[in-house]
Amino acid sequence: MRTHLPCPDCGKEFEPKEILENSTIAWPELNWIYFLCPQCKKNTHILVEDGRICTVDFIGAPGPDWKVNTPMIEKGITARMDPGYAHVWLDGHHYEFEAKQ
Ligand SMILES: [Zn+2]
Repeated sequence: MRTHLPCPDCGKEFEPKEILENSTIAWPELNWIYFLCPQCKKNTHILVEDGRICTVDFIGAPGPDWKVNTPMIEKGITARMDPGYAHVWLDGHHYEFEAKQ
């Protein structure tokens, strides 16, 4: 079973904890947070929901359409979205990400 998610740009693998620690803003209505890869400094949208964390790919033209890519089951993860913030809990730690304005 997958335990790490790869950065789509540089391929470096990250634990869910590292994804959460390097994310900034959120789109709570879509369950997305915005990950900044500490190696290549590129951003990636990450879908977070109860028990699952995935990278998101944008596809299609004229766009924007998207699909979940590289899903990973992470039983310890819980997400709660409200209009102003995305809240995520992992192994007893709470992370919150302010909604993009
Ligand atoms: Zn990267």
